Amino acid sequence: MCSGAGGFDVELTQRLKPKKYKCRSCGATFESVSKHPVCPTCQSESVDEVC
Ligand SMILES: [Zn+2]
Repeated sequence: MCSGAGGFDVELTQRLKPKKYKCRSCGATFESVSKHPVCPTCQSESVDEVC
């Protein structure tokens, strides 16, 4: 999902380590292990994964 290189990276990204996200609404960055991360600042679901 980050590099778009295909399936090889999937196994690595499926591990339970937090990924960084950036909120599109307020610009806050945060980490989450959820598949549907929600911004802790404004509760927006419009977030982008930060690689
Ligand atoms: Zn936000």
